[in-house]
Amino acid sequence: MDVTFIGAARTVTGSLHLIEHNKQKFLLDCGMFQGHREEAERINSTFPFKPKEIKTVILSHAHIDHSGNLPNLVKRGFSGPIFCTSATKDITSLLLLDSAKIQEYDFEYLNKKRTEKGMPPKQPLYTIADAEKTIEQLQAVDYNTSFEPVTGVHITLHDAGHILGSSVTVIEVDGKRLLFSGDLGRKGMPIIRDPVVVKDIDYMILESTYGARQHHSFENMQKELKEIIEAAKKKSSKMIIPAFAVERTQLLVTMLKNLFDEGCLKSVPVYVDSPLASNVTDVFRRHPECFDAETIKIFNEGDPFNFPNLHYVADTDESKSLNDKAGPLIIISASGMCEGGRVTHHLIHSIGDARNMIVLTGFQAHATLGRKILEGAPKVTIFNDDFEMRAKTYLMAGLSAHADGNDLLEYVKATRNGQLKKVYLVHGEIEESQALQEQIKTIGLDSDIPQTLTTITI
Ligand SMILES: [Zn+2]
Ligand SMILES: [Zn+2]
Repeated sequence: MDVTFIGAARTVTGSLHLIEHNKQKFLLDCGMFQGHREEAERINSTFPFKPKEIKTVILSHAHIDHSGNLPNLVKRGFSGPIFCTSATKDITSLLLLDSAKIQEYDFEYLNKKRTEKGMPPKQPLYTIADAEKTIEQLQAVDYNTSFEPVTGVHITLHDAGHILGSSVTVIEVDGKRLLFSGDLGRKGMPIIRDPVVVKDIDYMILESTYGARQHHSFENMQKELKEIIEAAKKKSSKMIIPAFAVERTQLLVTMLKNLFDEGCLKSVPVYVDSPLASNVTDVFRRHPECFDAETIKIFNEGDPFNFPNLHYVADTDESKSLNDKAGPLIIISASGMCEGGRVTHHLIHSIGDARNMIVLTGFQAHATLGRKILEGAPKVTIFNDDFEMRAKTYLMAGLSAHADGNDLLEYVKATRNGQLKKVYLVHGEIEESQALQEQIKTIGLDSDIPQTLTTITI
């Protein structure tokens, strides 16, 4: 089979790889490239193959950088099935509709401005109708169950332990086995199971997002969150926690549930204020088959994503009413990098008060509002207004859903049993991939960091 690395080659987003076997073509992921608007438009709108010729797509997990360009593929003629786990199918459906809605909204605004300037209107990458059509093409398959979506190509999905429903894909052709990691999770994280180690692999396509870094342990994060809350209680702070709607919000809820059980949250109400996060949490409740043993136990006794002080905010009126509430209180809201969503309003109303706290819970990309807050800018601009930054900022970097450099090397070692010939590193900035490549060299294994449009035959 031939593998062509297209997206997430020497970069993180836009995961997309083309596989060809006996003139039959299929894709691993079809993610959205995220970056500056013009570059993203150019990369996302063109495919170096004819979408009509693609027989199927194997989707590793729901994150937009893996699924977000599927509606565009469908719009351009792809009509085959998109195979993924059942949980991935449900989360992807929510995320694609959300992505299409945001695009339609953004382009309406953009086109108003263009018309005022006498410029022709532009089309979004895809619309809600394209997303709806794509959702109909999603087909659920079980973990650990081989299927043959293309003649002579046997595929099995295993739990990747990254987010609910995430999978490692094993592709078997003519007795040769290729593993595609998708995004690989960490051991011992709450809610989901650990990544599954698959043996007897000949070649591996491995993510390398944090190839050069080591995360703080999760146990430290639970302690850190408790300390921040104790400090917030003393100062009657409002704690604003910008969080991704998928996995990070649910992870925070389970951590807070533990603290509630310990008695630490007695007088502290917690609000989850993101319609998308609330809907994704409902999907979590529908998929206990993806939970780890601990979460199944809690699920059998009640709801792992609820406790008496917790409120899922329903509408914008209720969201606005939080502005007038006195601390201590905790608001978890999207987006995780503060680039939109209801969290921006909560920041506007709390960022200027030195008693308040902003707790960032993940990677903050360059040029985002979250990054500026993290770097301690004295003033930040939100919706064209400047705000003095007086609230105290924390970063809980150890909540990452990605394996770090050590985990990735351990995964390669655990998978290897003399048969593994080469590892291809993708989904990482070049420095991160190179650091991991150095580590892989120390165990005497060959690896490569393919450039985009490189084809290999295996
Ligand atoms: Zn991911
Ligand atoms: Zn990813």
